[in-house]
Amino acid sequence: MSALPQGSQCMSTRAKSSSKNFLTRINIRFPWLKLVATVVVGVLIILNLLDVTVPKLDDLSDNFPTTPMSKHSKATERILEGKKLVALTFDDGPFPDTTPRLLDILTEKDAIATFFSLGLMARSHPDILKRAFYEGHEIASHTMYHQNLNSITPGAVESDVNEATAVIKSIIGRTPALTRPPYGAYNQNVLDYTKTPLILWSVDPQDWLIRDPTSIINIAMSQVHDGAIILMHDIYPTSVEAVPTLIDTLRENGYEFTTVSELAKIRGLKLAPKNAYRNF
Ligand SMILES: [Zn+2]
Repeated sequence: MSALPQGSQCMSTRAKSSSKNFLTRINIRFPWLKLVATVVVGVLIILNLLDVTVPKLDDLSDNFPTTPMSKHSKATERILEGKKLVALTFDDGPFPDTTPRLLDILTEKDAIATFFSLGLMARSHPDILKRAFYEGHEIASHTMYHQNLNSITPGAVESDVNEATAVIKSIIGRTPALTRPPYGAYNQNVLDYTKTPLILWSVDPQDWLIRDPTSIINIAMSQVHDGAIILMHDIYPTSVEAVPTLIDTLRENGYEFTTVSELAKIRGLKLAPKNAYRNF
């Protein structure tokens, strides 16, 4: 007599048959599942064949395909060493009426800039900020609400700056390494409670006030020097209008463009928190 309990073989057959039934039932109830699975597998096979990998934010930031300085590397540093350099910087954006046009101009002119983005604006227009980032420009912080940091408590400074950092990081996947205090206003509290170096400027064409492209260019050119940080605002059409000729004129005068962080790096400066810088 077999010691096997009656029906033990049947158990396994039954299991197979029941799992088959289950799949059949699923197929009847959810016929689209099969289609979805087929499409997913198909796409994976095609991606594999094309050797396509989906890059993460961090990967993309080191591999911008369209901008010159995005490939910033030892080779780029070597090219720029010994050259007259300026950092174009734009505050208060991103703003839909003007920033995309500015980005077009920078691409056309093969130039790079630093955007001191306002957290409030970045939160409202994340796609523009993302575009600037992916096109190789440096994204820095101009705080969250554009308050005069000298006139608020240390706790309020910290919370404003932290909020801007969190917003910008949530959009571009990177923590901004630099902060420009609104109005250039800072005191010891601001230095202590902002976790990044503060960046001011050495060339101020007062574009926010003058609103005339020719005058903006003339003032900028009268103040420019090697290692200058040029203050502009990407929320005014007249400022953006000035940029193509400003870039051309700076180039005619032997200047090359770089971002603030790269400029410091090329000049051998290690930017440190609790310090403020005007030029390099
Ligand atoms: Zn501002």
